Amino acid sequence: KHKNLERLKGKENITQSGQKIDICANIGTREDIENVIRSDAGGIGLFRSEFLFLGQGTKPPTEEQQFQVYKLAAEAMGDKRVVIRTADLGGDKRLEYLGIGEEANPALGYRGIRVSLEKDEMFKTQLRAILRASAFGNLAVMFPMVTSVEEVTRAKLILDKAKKELKESKIPFRQDIPVGVMIETPAAVMISGELARNADFFSIGTNDLTQLTLGVDRQNEKMEKFYHQHHPALLKMIRIIANNIHLEGKHISICGDLAADLELTEYFLQIGIDELSVAPNEVLALRKKIREIQ
Ligand code: PEP
Ligand code: MG
Repeated sequence: KHKNLERLKGKENITQSGQKIDICANIGTREDIENVIRSDAGGIGLFRSEFLFLGQGTKPPTEEQQFQVYKLAAEAMGDKRVVIRTADLGGDKRLEYLGIGEEANPALGYRGIRVSLEKDEMFKTQLRAILRASAFGNLAVMFPMVTSVEEVTRAKLILDKAKKELKESKIPFRQDIPVGVMIETPAAVMISGELARNADFFSIGTNDLTQLTLGVDRQNEKMEKFYHQHHPALLKMIRIIANNIHLEGKHISICGDLAADLELTEYFLQIGIDELSVAPNEVLALRKKIREIQ
């Protein structure tokens, strides 16, 4: 069966009737980069950068440490797009130095872009590392757990500050690095039209969107039977997001686990999703599915 899939390397992600869709891969560490290349994915749709922070002990990784990893990913992928998601810390990914303390509901607690906007020096360090690496490939930056346009505006101001610093130090970077926003809260779904005017591309995080829409803790095994990823509310939200993003002519991908769900591939094609980003070992099975669809 594996041999069968290997055969699909180098082939297009195209349906029988000629509709195309991009397949990218999700990664968390530098070790995963090899797997992406072997998987024949069209790029890295989600680099969960918080894993660099989690392996680190008592301090965040330095700008130089982060730069080396992002540069490695950028160079390894060449012209192919690499989307670095800024650290989605908090929730289940807790670190002493964030000073989060005990939370009754970590999934609804201090995490993602909200942490970054308060730990703004740590955030700017990460953005400087991403910008510096952008001189070595096709990098983009993306913000997690967004709930308002204001968060995007504030994050972009800090990005501008990082750019200004690098420029003053004559350090090369890509001035027009694309800025993306994750749509993974119900609030972001409802304002996806406004968000579409305030960023360059979008990616749906179906894991958090399921958790927050259905009120089901994704970490709680007892709740697994209520974690209905095919719930009509979720499928409808995904369609609404795609429509709103496309009205502004922007790019919409799905990078949550649902992207690899072969029962939904046809639906995602129907509603015009531009890209599915999945684990490296799921790329070829998804390509096979797409090529079988009419
Ligand atoms: C998601 O929420 O679907 C997502 C892709 O982000 P993470 O799984 O890292 O929270
Ligand atoms: Mg998420």
